[in-house]
Amino acid sequence: MASFSSLTTLIQIADLYFDDGNIVVFVDRDLEATAVFRLHKSILASQSAVFADLFSLPAPSKDTVESNEMYDGVPVVRMHDNAKDIEGLFRALYCPSSILFKRRHPDTPLKVKGLLALTTKYQVDRLRETIISQVRADWPSSIFEWDVLEEEAGQLQDEILQEALQNGLEPWQSRAADDYLPEPASAIRLAYEASIPEIIPAAFYQLSRTEPSQDYDRWRALSNDDPFHEAHCDWIDGARTARWSMLVQEDLLSLARGKEKLQRFAEEIHRSMLPVVTCCRMGCLDVWKDVPQPVRKDLLRDLKEFCSETRYPGKGMCGACRQEINRRAKRLRGDLWGRLGEFFGEE
Ligand SMILES: [Zn+2]
Repeated sequence: MASFSSLTTLIQIADLYFDDGNIVVFVDRDLEATAVFRLHKSILASQSAVFADLFSLPAPSKDTVESNEMYDGVPVVRMHDNAKDIEGLFRALYCPSSILFKRRHPDTPLKVKGLLALTTKYQVDRLRETIISQVRADWPSSIFEWDVLEEEAGQLQDEILQEALQNGLEPWQSRAADDYLPEPASAIRLAYEASIPEIIPAAFYQLSRTEPSQDYDRWRALSNDDPFHEAHCDWIDGARTARWSMLVQEDLLSLARGKEKLQRFAEEIHRSMLPVVTCCRMGCLDVWKDVPQPVRKDLLRDLKEFCSETRYPGKGMCGACRQEINRRAKRLRGDLWGRLGEFFGEE
C-alpha cells in the first residue's frame, strides 16, 4: 500500500524539528498535509514508558512504524493521533511552560482534553499530573476556597463595569466576569473523561445555580443591537453561564438528583436552626421562631447570610443568640459542602 504521506505535503514544524534529532515523526493533519517532527528518542523515552518501549523494539511495530522508512537520514515513526494534540504533547515535553494555562479560564477544559488523552495513552505521567493539577486548582476544594472565589468573582464584575465606564462604554457593552471564571459543563465532562473527580462537587454546584437559558455560546452570540435583552442585564449583574449542550444524559440526571437533594437539605435546615433555646429576651425568641427558610437557588450563599452578625436573623438578637445562630449556620455550610460530592455523585 502506498504511504499515505507520499501523497501529502510534508510540513516541518520549525520549533520541533531539531537537526540533531534521531527520530522523525509523521502525523497526518488531514488528507493533504502531514506534520513532520524531528525529535530525540532519549527525551521522548525519558517521559513516556510507551515511547521507551516503541524505540526499543527490534522490529517495527505494525501499528506505528513502517519498515525502513527514512526521512532526512533518520528513521520515521508514523503516529495516527490528532495532529494538533500530538504537536501540543511534543511541545510540552520540550517546553513545559507551553502548558501553563490562564488561571480559571473557561476554555481550559476544552484546550487540555485532547492533550490529556494523549498523556494517558502514551503514559506521560508527569505531564499529565502537571496539567491535572492546573485544572484542579481552577476549582475550589474547600468551603474556604469557594468563598474566596465568590468574593473575587464579585470584585471582578465591579472592576469590569468600572473599566467599561472609563472607556465610555455602556455597561451592557462590557465583557462579563463569566469570561474569566471556570465554566462547569466542560469541566464536568473533562472530570469524567480524564478522571479528575476532585473538581466534580464544585463544578456541579456551580452548574446547579445556572439556568439552562444561561448558555455560554448563545449569550456570546447575542447581538449588541438589542441592549435591553434580558441576558445583557443578567450579564451586568455578574450572571454565569454553562456550555449546556456539552452535557450527556448521565450529567443531567446527576444534576437533577443533586438539586433534589439540595432542596431536601434546605428543608432540613429550618428544623436544625430551630432547637429549643432559652433566652430571656422575648425579641430573641420571636426571631428564633421565625428563622427564615433559605429560598434562593444558591444554598451556600443563603446560609452565608445566616453566618453574618449584622444581617437578619442574627441582627435582631442578643449577643449570645446571634453567636449561636451564626455558629449553627457555619456548621451547616460546612456539612453541605462536604456532602456535595455525594449529592451530585453517581447513584
Ligand atoms: Zn437571645
